[in-house]
Amino acid sequence: MRASHLTCQYESDGSLLNVIRTKRALPILSRELVTRTTCEQGANPRGRDASPRGRDCRGARLPRARGRYRKIRASLAPMTSQVALRTARLIRARRSTILLYHGVGPTNTRIDPGFLRVRPEAFREQLGLLLESGFETVTVDELVRRSGGRKPPPGLVALSFDDGMDDNHSVVLPLLREHGVRATVFVTTGLIGKPNPWMAPESGARMMTVEELRDLAAAGFEIGAHTVSHPDLSRLGFDECLREMRESRDELERTLGVEVRTFAYPSCHYGPAAVEAARAAGFTAAVTCQGLGSWKRYEVRRSLMSGKDGTASFLAKLTGFYEPLSTSPPGRLARATTRKARTMKRARAERRELRGDIN
Ligand SMILES: [Zn+2]
Repeated sequence: MRASHLTCQYESDGSLLNVIRTKRALPILSRELVTRTTCEQGANPRGRDASPRGRDCRGARLPRARGRYRKIRASLAPMTSQVALRTARLIRARRSTILLYHGVGPTNTRIDPGFLRVRPEAFREQLGLLLESGFETVTVDELVRRSGGRKPPPGLVALSFDDGMDDNHSVVLPLLREHGVRATVFVTTGLIGKPNPWMAPESGARMMTVEELRDLAAAGFEIGAHTVSHPDLSRLGFDECLREMRESRDELERTLGVEVRTFAYPSCHYGPAAVEAARAAGFTAAVTCQGLGSWKRYEVRRSLMSGKDGTASFLAKLTGFYEPLSTSPPGRLARATTRKARTMKRARAERRELRGDIN
């Protein structure tokens, strides 16, 4: 009888997404961060990861499925909060990171096609993991100062929010204030008080007003610049980059009465001219994301959070390895094998939400 390996993947609520069966263990998938094998010790005479062909590790018959991978319907042990907390503590002891959010609020394909918002319950869980595992929360400016342009000391996390969406004031501010946590908000000044251009009109989402931005500044949030018109700076020359940076910084300093020290490249795009302009404008640091950047002051990397993230991907993003991992061949394979299940699960949740709205 041939041995095989089972690797189970879970959603954030612990429900089973998929089981991948391979002849050899998948080397790239971190069992701590991305997946968790569920074969119990002693459940199978062949050992932890082995199971008879056609049976799962508990001896139950596996259903027939197309292709190389099989799914089982049985409910297996979830990735518990204890496992997540232990994992977060391991990360805290080794690394520091800057997380990039846009908004916190309801999200679905109808109103938020880019999944820029993270659901409040998911954000609370992520914040809880950071605080319980002992991360020290700092602003982007403070983290960059403490890193000195090199890899920062471990255990620091900075929460950053791009664009200036209204839920940063209505949802994020009270939640973070409750826990004594400060964040950095990078504001696109040309959008202040206007409808949110990234959300569907029926969402009613808008960008923060000057008064709301003042509340954030008064609560100790760091205010950073994010240009006037949110252009792709990798396509602009030095002079245009510098104008966008200076005008947005000057307007924020004038209207809010705060010092604006840091800058975020819109959509994380930048080129040599933008880096030079950020330095010439007098910012202490400029941040990017999406696998770009390093710990250099004007190309500081961040991990982009999405409304699709569950606990496992949140923890992977906390390590800073999510993007390289997810774009590697094994990472792409893992995402491809779970894509259909994830899409169906999201669609079911959205249908439930819609029924709830109607009722
Ligand atoms: Zn932006």
